Amino acid sequence: MIILGGGAAGLTAASGCAQLGMKVLLVEKELMGGDCLHYGCVPSKTLLRSAGVYHQARQMSRYGLPDVSLPGIDLNRVMNRVQEVIGTISHHDSAERFEGLGVQVLFGSPRFLSPREILVGDGTFSASRIVIATGSSPSLPPIPGLESDGFITNKEIFRLEELPESLITIGGGPIGTELSQALARLGSRVTLLNDADQILPREDRDMAAVVEQQLREDGAEVLNGVRITGVRRAGRSVTVRYTRDETDSEVVGTHLLVAAGRRGNTEDLNLEGIGVDRNGSFIGVNNRLQTSLRHIYAIGDVNGQYMFTHVAGTEGSFVVRHAALGLPGSFSYRNVPWVTYTEPELASVGFNEKRAKETGTSYETVEAPLEDNDRAQAEGRTPGKIKILIDRKERVLGTQIVGARAGDLILPSLYGVTKRLKLMDVMSPVYPYPTLGEIHRQAAGTYYGPRLFNPRIRKILKFLYRYRG
Ligand SMILES: Cc1cc2nc3c(=O)[nH]c(=O)nc-3n(C[C@H](O)[C@H](O)[C@H](O)COP(=O)(O)OP(=O)(O)OC[C@H]3O[C@@H](n4cnc5c(N)ncnc54)[C@H](O)[C@@H]3O)c2cc1C
Repeated sequence: MIILGGGAAGLTAASGCAQLGMKVLLVEKELMGGDCLHYGCVPSKTLLRSAGVYHQARQMSRYGLPDVSLPGIDLNRVMNRVQEVIGTISHHDSAERFEGLGVQVLFGSPRFLSPREILVGDGTFSASRIVIATGSSPSLPPIPGLESDGFITNKEIFRLEELPESLITIGGGPIGTELSQALARLGSRVTLLNDADQILPREDRDMAAVVEQQLREDGAEVLNGVRITGVRRAGRSVTVRYTRDETDSEVVGTHLLVAAGRRGNTEDLNLEGIGVDRNGSFIGVNNRLQTSLRHIYAIGDVNGQYMFTHVAGTEGSFVVRHAALGLPGSFSYRNVPWVTYTEPELASVGFNEKRAKETGTSYETVEAPLEDNDRAQAEGRTPGKIKILIDRKERVLGTQIVGARAGDLILPSLYGVTKRLKLMDVMSPVYPYPTLGEIHRQAAGTYYGPRLFNPRIRKILKFLYRYRG
C-alpha cells in the first residue's frame, strides 16, 4: 500500500496496515503529524488555554480574590509554549516511530505516473492499493486586493512573535471564532467579519449566540452578514472594506487573519492524468471511501466530508478494515460529534434543530440551562445550556451543549445517540453530585417532571392511597 500524507488519516491507515503485515510506503510532503499537530488542533487548543488562564487571572475579583493588575503578555513566550506542546506530542507521530512499526517513510512530493505508479524524487513506486490523505489548506476567498503577503492564516499565526495590536478575522467558522477569542483574550483588538448571519453557522442560532455573547464580552467586535468588497495593505496597516445592511464601511487593523474555509490538497498529484474524479478541489468518494478508481481511497480532509481529526482517524481505521482485512461494510457519518473549543465550548452530536428541519425529521426539544446546575454556580461558569432532541418514542436524536467543558459533557449523549437510547436511559444512571454532567439529568427532569408530577397522577394516587388505607 502507498499512503500519501502523514496526518491523522494517513498515519492511522499506515500504522494499522503495517501492523497487520502489509508492505506500506508513506510519502509525506512536509511534516509528520499534519495540520492537526502543527497548524491546527494542538496549537489552537494550547493557545486557547494560555488565553483562558490569562483571562481568568483578570477575573480574580469575581471569585472573592484580590484584584490584580496584570502586565500585557509576551506573545513570544506564549508561542514557545505552543511549540513545546507540539514538540512533546510530535514523538507520537515521528518517522522513527512509524518505521519501528514497519512503515517505510519517504519525504517528498509524490505524483501519479499511472493509476498504480507514483513518482517521488527520482524513484518510482507501485502498489495495488493507494490511499490519498493529503489533507486541506486554507482557501482564499476571491476578494480584490487580498495579496499573498498581506494576511496570515492558521499556518502563520502560531509563529507570530508579537501580539497583533489589532486583528481583523475573515470567517466566523470554528477556526476564525477560536482564534479570534484567543487573541482577544490575550489583548488584541479583534474584529470578526462573518458573511453568515451568525457565527458557527452549522449550529443552531440559540447555541452559537452564547459563544457570540462571550466573544463580545471578551472585547471582540463581531459583525455578521458582512460582504467584503476589498482589502488594502499600506505599510503596517491593513484596511478591509465591506458592505453590511446596504451600507459601505471599513475597518483598519495591523493583522488580517483569513479563516474562510478550506480546499483539498490535490493540485500536484496529477489526478486528472489518471482519471480520479474531483469535486472542486476535494476528491469524491463512495461510502467505502473509494475514489472513482476503486483501488485508490481518499480519506481525511481531502475528501471534503467532515473535516475533523477524529473523522480522519476513523476513516483511516476503516481503510485498514476494508483494504487490509477485506471486511465488508460502509462508512457512515451519521453520528459524528464535533466541538468548538471556545469558552464556552459548543459540542454537538446527531441532529440539531437545523439538521432536523432540513431533513424533515420530527422532533421535540428538551433543554436545561447551566444556571440550574450547582457545580456551574460554584465554579462561576453558568453561561450555556443543553438541548436534547428526541423523537416520538423518546429516543435521543441529537444533543448540543454550549458551556464549560461541553466537549467532555457530551459523552453520555454520544453513547445515547449512537445506540439509539431513550432519554430515560441517558438520565437513569446515578450521576455524581455536584458535576456539570448532571445537566443531562436536569434536562430529562424538565421532560419527565411535568409528566409525573401533575394533578391527574396526583388524583389517581390519592384514590389508591385511600383505597389502601
Ligand atoms: C486552526 C485549526 C484548528 C483545528 N482544530 C481541530 C480540533 O480541535 N479538532 C478536530 O477534530 N479538528 C480540528 N481541526 C481540523 C484538523 O486539523 C483536520 O481535520 C485534520 O488535520 C485532518 O487530517 P488529515 O490527515 O486529513 O490531514 P492533515 O492533518 O492536513 O495531513 C495531511 C498531510 O499530508 C501532507 N501533504 C499535503 N500534500 C501532500 C502531497 N501532495 N503529498 C504528500 N503529502 C502531502 C501534509 O503535509 C500533511 O502532513 C483544526 C484545523 C485547523 C486549521
